[in-house]
Amino acid sequence: MTLNNVWIVAETDSNGVTASSLELATKARSLATTVHAVTWSTNAESVAAELGGYGISVLHQVAIGDALPGAPVAQALAGLLSSDNCDLILVATTYDGRDIAGRLSARLNQSILTNTIDIAVNDGAIVATNAVFGGTLLVASEFTASGPHIVAVRPKSFAAEPAETAVSCRVEQLTVDLATKPASATITSRHVEERTGPKLDEARVVVSGGRGLGQSESYEMIEKLATALSGAPGASRAIVDAGWVPYAYQVGQTGKTVKPDVYIACGISGATQHLVGMKSAKTIIAINKDKDAPIFAVADLGIVGDVHKVLPKLLELLQSRV
Ligand code: FAD
Repeated sequence: MTLNNVWIVAETDSNGVTASSLELATKARSLATTVHAVTWSTNAESVAAELGGYGISVLHQVAIGDALPGAPVAQALAGLLSSDNCDLILVATTYDGRDIAGRLSARLNQSILTNTIDIAVNDGAIVATNAVFGGTLLVASEFTASGPHIVAVRPKSFAAEPAETAVSCRVEQLTVDLATKPASATITSRHVEERTGPKLDEARVVVSGGRGLGQSESYEMIEKLATALSGAPGASRAIVDAGWVPYAYQVGQTGKTVKPDVYIACGISGATQHLVGMKSAKTIIAINKDKDAPIFAVADLGIVGDVHKVLPKLLELLQSRV
């Protein structure tokens, strides 16, 4: 049994609709006969063209000016959803997604399920699956009240796949009264982290370093290996907390979830909070000097050795083949 009407919050970046929003679109399409999206992008026509390829038939554009999207988008959505007969609204677990979902929950007086990794419809009831205790237990929760229900989905929970047949996506304008928006933070400046390779959560190869590197200078080996493999460098929380690399590099429960073809963990023990962010990688390679390190339990290929010996050899080998 499918739902009638599911909405998604479609976020965008300089490349168009974000991967996590396309994942939501793909899932929403499998759950409902009609899928609507909301965006605050000023380039709604190109967002609609992209989303039409994922089966979304209506895109609502909210003009938010310089405001952060949380308050105005939640305000616009709350007005629409209460009259739209919407069963479910999906947001990605991102900064803006969480902000919108929390505010929407308060405005609609609806409960919200967060950090969800799967959604199904069983006998008409929406069932969300959430990973708890660092991904060691899965909890299935069912909404019992009437909708619209709000679910915040963890990125990489679903694959983003275009629809077999693209649909024409109509753009509708939504206006919100920005003058009466609730007290909200204001953006005073934006900083875009400079990056040369692929994004961590979209890279096909991720090379991550942990405390086993011994010192921050050794992280250079991780960056070099990532570059040599056209991948992205990542990190365990231990070295983010130590200030060796920025938080944006962190993989795990409180960092990014990655699902690359190859994940190379260097000097990382394999704590459950790290594993939950990378264990869905297709192939996991671990380098650790402790043969009993928990990371080897999830590794397809394990190298028991010192990162300071293995990584330079690996780099030398790769460079000799260029
Ligand atoms: P360690 O656990 O110290 O492991 C270092 C490893 O390096 C060891 O296995 C050691 O054998 C090996 N080693 C040492 N020297 C060498 C060498 N020369 N060559 C090869 N191997 C060597 N962690 C995350 O990563 N991501 C998260 O999102 C995250 N969220 C958390 C949320 C909560 C609420 C909590 C409580 C913890 C969280 N953590 C997270 C922290 C997590 O529990 C671990 O502390 C952390 O992952 C450990 O990082 P590490 O593996 O780099 O360091």
